[in-house]
Amino acid sequence: MRKQIAAANWKMNLSQQEASDLLTSLLGSLSNINDNQQVIFSVPSIYIPQALGQIQGKANVFIAAQNCHQKANGAFTGEISANMFASAGVKHIVIGHSERREYFGETDALLAEKVNAVLEISSTPIFCCGEPLAIREAGTQNAFVEAQLINALFHLTADQITQVVIAYEPIWAIGTGKTATSAQAQEIHAYIRSVLSSKYGQDIANQISILYGGSVKAANAIELFSQPDVDGGLVGGASLITSEFTAIINALQ
Ligand code: PEP
Repeated sequence: MRKQIAAANWKMNLSQQEASDLLTSLLGSLSNINDNQQVIFSVPSIYIPQALGQIQGKANVFIAAQNCHQKANGAFTGEISANMFASAGVKHIVIGHSERREYFGETDALLAEKVNAVLEISSTPIFCCGEPLAIREAGTQNAFVEAQLINALFHLTADQITQVVIAYEPIWAIGTGKTATSAQAQEIHAYIRSVLSSKYGQDIANQISILYGGSVKAANAIELFSQPDVDGGLVGGASLITSEFTAIINALQ
């Protein structure tokens, strides 16, 4: 059975003390997370050691990195590899967030390498895909997202693809306050699953968690997460507010 996941993306926000206080407050308001659910906090890399200390003993709660380099090690000043994160205790890494694609020029070909690097050490890539506004307005979002999946993921074996979490994040909904309607989210999530199914078979496609991201908040999480192909959310702004993210976690099915 695929996992239902609430993943926070704190991006480049919060001082060290603020991050620690927010995590303390979020963990304090968490009820038990059952084994079919996961709560993941993608924190700025520098705060990973303290965050790992804070979640110790909390079942089904994980810390993630927001990006990694595609190589295992070498002369890449300022970069951090998937191996390094794993050696520090972090086994979830967000790959290909639209902000990385847009501001750092990350292409599907590069993201395929990053996905490989993460899977090579048995960690979990949280692979982001999603279309810009012009593509949605042209009605070609399915083909756009399908190409992202084919280019960055479809070289993987069936065993490998089941280790990937997919986050569908329409760029026009990220940080804008505009959310896809639950019908729009369900439609494209079902399409993503059908594309996975035609490549890997329905059994494999059914095992892959597909998260929705784009202005998820307490007020819309229940409706979004109740869609059959929406397996939780990747949450930016609302994950910085304890009451909001707690409600989003509680909305997991
Ligand atoms: C994100 O950062 O992945 C995101 C979806 O942000 P927001 O929830 O703020 O739209």
